[in-house]
Amino acid sequence: MKTPEKFVYVFGSSRTEGAAAMKNLLGGKGANLAEMCRLGITVPSGFTISTEACTAFTEQGREAVFELIQGEVLAGVKFLELEMGKTFGDASDPLLLSVRSGARASMPGMMDTILNLGLNDEAVLGLARKTNDARFAWDSYRRFVQMYGDVVMGLKPVSKEDHDPFEVIIDMVKAQKGVKQDTELDADDLKELVQRFKSLIRARIGRDFPTDPWEQLWGAVWAVFESWNNERACVYRELNDIPASWGTAVNVQVMVFGNLGDHSATGVAFSRDAGTGEDLFNGEFLVNAQGEDVVAGIRTPQQVSLVGSRRWAELALVTEEERRLHYPSLEELMPDIYQQLLHAETTLENHFRDMQDIEFTIQQGKLWMLQTRNGKRTGSAMVRIAMEMLQQGMIDEKTALQRVAPERLNELLHPIFDSGARKAAEILARGLPASPGAATGQIVFHADEAETWAKVGKDVILVRQETSPEDLRGMSVARGILTARGGMTSHAAVVARGMGKCCVSGAGAVHVDLKARTMSIGEAVYHEGDWISLDGSAGEVYAGKIATKDAELSGDFGKLMALTDQYKRLDIRANADTPDEARVARNFGAAGIGLCRTEHMFFEGARILAVREMILADNEAGRRKALAKLLPMQRGDFEGLFREMHDLPVTIRLLDPPLHEFLPHDEANQRAMATEMGVSLGKIRMRVEELHEFNPMMGHRGCRLGISYPEITEMQARAVFEAALNVRAAGIRVKTEIMVPLVGTVREFNAQSDVIRRTAATVFAERGETLDYLLGSMIETPRGALMADSIAREAEFFSFGTNDLTQMTLGFSRDDAGKFLPEYLKRGIYEHDPFRSIDQKGVGVLVQMAVEKGRSARPDLEVGVCGEHGGDPVSVAFFHQAGLDYVSCSPYRVPIARLAAAQAALTS
Ligand code: PEP
Ligand code: MG
Repeated sequence: MKTPEKFVYVFGSSRTEGAAAMKNLLGGKGANLAEMCRLGITVPSGFTISTEACTAFTEQGREAVFELIQGEVLAGVKFLELEMGKTFGDASDPLLLSVRSGARASMPGMMDTILNLGLNDEAVLGLARKTNDARFAWDSYRRFVQMYGDVVMGLKPVSKEDHDPFEVIIDMVKAQKGVKQDTELDADDLKELVQRFKSLIRARIGRDFPTDPWEQLWGAVWAVFESWNNERACVYRELNDIPASWGTAVNVQVMVFGNLGDHSATGVAFSRDAGTGEDLFNGEFLVNAQGEDVVAGIRTPQQVSLVGSRRWAELALVTEEERRLHYPSLEELMPDIYQQLLHAETTLENHFRDMQDIEFTIQQGKLWMLQTRNGKRTGSAMVRIAMEMLQQGMIDEKTALQRVAPERLNELLHPIFDSGARKAAEILARGLPASPGAATGQIVFHADEAETWAKVGKDVILVRQETSPEDLRGMSVARGILTARGGMTSHAAVVARGMGKCCVSGAGAVHVDLKARTMSIGEAVYHEGDWISLDGSAGEVYAGKIATKDAELSGDFGKLMALTDQYKRLDIRANADTPDEARVARNFGAAGIGLCRTEHMFFEGARILAVREMILADNEAGRRKALAKLLPMQRGDFEGLFREMHDLPVTIRLLDPPLHEFLPHDEANQRAMATEMGVSLGKIRMRVEELHEFNPMMGHRGCRLGISYPEITEMQARAVFEAALNVRAAGIRVKTEIMVPLVGTVREFNAQSDVIRRTAATVFAERGETLDYLLGSMIETPRGALMADSIAREAEFFSFGTNDLTQMTLGFSRDDAGKFLPEYLKRGIYEHDPFRSIDQKGVGVLVQMAVEKGRSARPDLEVGVCGEHGGDPVSVAFFHQAGLDYVSCSPYRVPIARLAAAQAALTS
């Protein structure tokens, strides 16, 4: 990297160097702080050290970066001194700073923050004098030592059952004094806490707490850079596809205090509801509290708006009187400030034209904005906000389409509780509806256990006192999250919404005992492994399992889907093998069936017997006898599909897997089969042995089967044509497409098309009527792609089987790649799992080439994809570019692919 010339950008009332557009350089927080200054919103002055400094830090180390940025940081501090009329390090009137991370993409709680920086044993006295509030000064100092000791000096709990060592001391001092709340500690108690904290640091870390403000500042800057690579940040990046190369910026800002008495407060608010998307300003705050108290979920926060406060009280079973007395809204408590906040929120939402997540502090009756960003939200909130902003004229159709991440539509398709089953279930506790959805699972109390349990296929509910960023991975594998503490903006709530995961937070009746691994609610005690259910939309916790049903599609979702059709060029079909799947696909807007894997129909009930009889037959006559039994069943299958998909194309693939897949491999089942079919066990064993292959995926499968046993192809083709004619006779329009799998040379295709066309002619002659149909080839071997022009001279359409094409092009077995692929991904040998997202540089080039060659031979060649990649948004964009006509994916991914196709059309 070329060394940049500038690393530090200031913002404040006299001068602002950054802007919202500089996110890559200044991180989201830094860029938006600068933008707020430009908009005239009151922000504590500060400066941002760029992400490029972080990258240099990772690459060149601390000393080198110190040389690079030292002068600019000095100048930055000078700027703050001028803005505030104070001097950094002046103990008589200390200039205190906050130091916060801020990456390009928001990573809530993943990296570190230091507040009240600049305090020491002398400055605390100066602060006490200046504010005339010794308690406040000592509380600020104790918070600083605690944060700095944890984040910069690394004094953390030793094991997962351990409590935070600082909190242990606080609890001890409170116990000694016989008080319950932090707020009941006076200046002397806090002073004692500071002393004890410092002794603990000296004893455990072997170093003194730094007293020099400059040493404190540099320590904090390095800690933020280092936190870019801490474990939870790495996990978050991995889960959210954020490149390690981005780095984080550091924001150094003048402190404002929400803990300067009862006219001070701190809070978090959203311009719309992040859970449901409702256009309702909402948020939480705490009076006389500092920064992280709200997010940490330790005290019960109050609601910003009156409407929100009343809604909250209803859920929390708090009477209106109690609410007004103990938990009044900001709107009631500080009406002027509330109006200012509302005004700032509206200005910001209109400016960014997106839902804003803002942090604010009120210091002795003055409002300061600390952050604004596009808020994280659930999948359904994404859809609703986009469609409502479109309706409100804030954004246009194209922007609305771009606002929804296709993958997040998954959440709208999740099952919900069956309402009857839910009514019958016992409510254990109520909490806040922190993130919607329904979840049933077994209780676990630790994030790592959630992972272990989930790995062996268990459904778990992670139950915590409150969650912390360390719990991220466990949260991501849990079905749902339940916390005893914390509000709507607690860590658990924010992260769960970001993940689209069901979460009930702040269920006050729940008591968690980490050591005993129990959760008690009143008298009842629940153990690890017990089943519970959560309704994240209602904030309810239930005993046991509750049955679920498929989600219903909401109005906005339907509108969004309709909008995709106006912009996308690709058709989206579905891979469906049964009428039920076809119905789901059609409801989700599939434009046809792109792949019916006929072998799946062979396993049901009596069919498998006929299939096995065919496999065991010694000659063609024997096979034909068995196939004759299969014919009516197969015909019925196809009739069901054609009926369900009336008017839309249905692409049926000939039998594909190696025959051994239809035979049992263990002795018990072989014996059962022998008895059932009246043949000897020896015969079955012999046939199984004959069919054994070293590389079944490259063995006797695909069109090779139909070439060896044309009678199978003949039966399948007859079933298709007869079914199509029967359904058409009932007045239903059918569009039939038959495709030949695993073709590598046009001669294979021809061998199969001869059989199919001959069968068609026979059936048409028998029935005295004909039918239009298309006969195509799958392209799923590299040779098939290379020979695409000659194949297209015969085949009327192509369907890329990108699963096999990937397997054969990379030489990675679909079934065995799990052994090495994770390491490949970790080491960056491949950037993405090529079976999930198409390998654009390799397999993708084969696809492009085959499309070109195919169309050179047959200009109207219809081309689609039916491998798993058809449902992957990034791959869909690639297939759009490659000029395909459609992609085909599993029914539940059809909406995702539709949106991805529209977005691809918009960006190309
Ligand atoms: C493919 O290979 O991409 C394909 C669709 O076929 P299958 O997954 O059944 O092998
Ligand atoms: Mg295949």
